[in-house]
Amino acid sequence: MFPELAAGVAAALAAAAYAVRGPSCQWLGPSIYRGPRNRAAIALTFDDGPSPGTPELLELLAQHEARATFFVCGLNVERYPQIVRAAVEAGHELGNHGYAHARLWLRNPAFIYQEVATAQRAITAVAGRPPRWFRPPYGVRWLGLREALRRLDLTLVTWTVLAQDWKLPAERIVRRLERRAGNGAILCLHDGRELDPRPDIAPTMEAVRRLLPVLRERGFALVTLSDLLGAGP
Ligand SMILES: [Zn+2]
Repeated sequence: MFPELAAGVAAALAAAAYAVRGPSCQWLGPSIYRGPRNRAAIALTFDDGPSPGTPELLELLAQHEARATFFVCGLNVERYPQIVRAAVEAGHELGNHGYAHARLWLRNPAFIYQEVATAQRAITAVAGRPPRWFRPPYGVRWLGLREALRRLDLTLVTWTVLAQDWKLPAERIVRRLERRAGNGAILCLHDGRELDPRPDIAPTMEAVRRLLPVLRERGFALVTLSDLLGAGP
C-alpha cells in the first residue's frame, strides 16, 4: 500500500474507533462523561452487577456515607433481585447496562432496541421505577442506539476515568482513580464481570476500601449521577 493511503486508512480507522468508543465523543449521539466542575462531588459508578459481591460493597459505601450508581445488566438483575432492591433501599441509583452485556457494534437497530428495552423492563420490574441513564457495554455505541435511547427516555453516560479494575491490581486501580478524581468526575468501576454469576471482584473491593476514606478526606461528596448532574433525586 502507498504510505499516504496507509496513513489515510489509519486515520479513518482511528476516527471510527473514537466515534464508537471515545467516552467524550458526541458523533453517534449525545453522551455525558463528567458533571459540573463547580462542586466538590464525585459519582462512583459500578457496571456489570449485581453479583454476590455487591452486598459487601453496599456495606462499605454505607460506612463512608457514599451513594453510587449501579449500571446493572438485566440478566443479572433477574438472578439477584434482592440485591438490587437492597441497593435501591440504601439510596443508590440504578442505570441500564443492557440485558446480556452484548457488544452493540455492527448490530441492527432492532437488536439494539431489544437489548436496551429488555433490560429497562427487568430493572423497572424489580426497582419500581425506570432508570434514566444508559451505559453501553464496552463503551461501544452504534447507529440506532441514539433512537433506542430516545424512545426509552434514557441518556447515555460514559465516564471521566475508567478504573480497568477487571485487570489491574488494587493499588494501580487506586492510583489511577486518585490521580484523576476532581470536581464532577464520573468514576467507572465494576461490581460484576459481564455475565459471570460468581465473579471475583476482590481487586475492586480492595480498591474501593482504600479509595473511599481518601476521597472523603479530600472533601468530595460521593453522590448518585442524578445528584451530580442536577437531575433531581
Ligand atoms: Zn460492562
